[in-house]
Amino acid sequence: MTVRVRIAPSPTGNLHIGTARTAVFNWLFARRQGGQFILRIEDTDVERSRPEFTQNILDGLQWLGLDWDEGPFFQSQRAELYRQTVQTLLDKGLAYPCYCTAEELQQMREAQKARKQAPRYDNRHRNLTDEQRTEFAAQGRKPVIRFIIDDEREIVWDDQIRGRLSWQGRDLGGDMVIARRGEGDADFGVPLYNLAVVADDMDMGITHVIRGEDHIANTAKQILLYEALGAAVPIFAHSPLILNQKGQKLSKRDGATSVKEFAEMGFWPAAIANYMSLLGWTPPDATQEIFTLDEAAQQFDLGRVNKAGARFDWAKLDWLNGQYLRALPTEELLDQLLPYWQAAGYELDAAGDRPGYCK
Ligand code: GLU
Repeated sequence: MTVRVRIAPSPTGNLHIGTARTAVFNWLFARRQGGQFILRIEDTDVERSRPEFTQNILDGLQWLGLDWDEGPFFQSQRAELYRQTVQTLLDKGLAYPCYCTAEELQQMREAQKARKQAPRYDNRHRNLTDEQRTEFAAQGRKPVIRFIIDDEREIVWDDQIRGRLSWQGRDLGGDMVIARRGEGDADFGVPLYNLAVVADDMDMGITHVIRGEDHIANTAKQILLYEALGAAVPIFAHSPLILNQKGQKLSKRDGATSVKEFAEMGFWPAAIANYMSLLGWTPPDATQEIFTLDEAAQQFDLGRVNKAGARFDWAKLDWLNGQYLRALPTEELLDQLLPYWQAAGYELDAAGDRPGYCK
């Protein structure tokens, strides 16, 4: 089996270091296994996705040295595949149109809250008769498409980082929406995240899904979709979140969260890539702290990724960056420093103001 992994960022912001670290793990795994690393841009959220963010993501991955073997693929160009996948589930009777209005869903949630129950869809349109459907359609209601989730089902998988994980069907919020309401004559509208991810991962032959632990609940839903579509379920590995020194999720307040900001602060790309690989992974020789991505790839193993959140340590990153800067040849260091000096207002003439510097 050839290993095929992917990084699937949404271009709703600049390349986040959490995504970059996930990309590093995927890249290391692909290189170690002699597999392929695929780049997919998940730009189905038309309102929040922007081309400049896509560019920033591509630039950031390249800056870090994470070359991809296939892609970038864009979800916005793959609507037909998702439409067919939704249709397959409808044809198999594993999905159905739900005609509930936003107000009805709101009332349902309020009633559940009043009964001190967790809000969930109560599957009320799962077994409508053809007459009832025709009647709702005649009222001008447009349905969403829901995928049937069996409350009694226990979903279990062997996570390559976290060990055996399980999730109860009844904790997934009821039958899940896989496509929005259609416009005009369309039977249904834009497919939603979990459906598109599964359709793509199947189509791209992804063997291992390595991503952040914030996706664990999605994984339970996605496994049900793979099964419903009669596809092999990939192997999953959920990496720990990146935390600040207080143990909270890293945020803007902690200084920087995008790769671009680190670059602008003057960090050396190889130092950032090195530090990213240490954020959660421990090499077999735990005393080894300085290595290139290629060196890390020779030893990378998901079994050595920690389950606990990885604390971001600025002092360590500064130290590591210093090691890289000191190892640079003087001319290269000068070339790197020039833009920062210029940005700080020093007027440096390329040749004359650089004593001892000759090319
Ligand atoms: N687009 C998702 C995100 O940016 C990633 C989805 C996945 O890796 O399955 O969080």
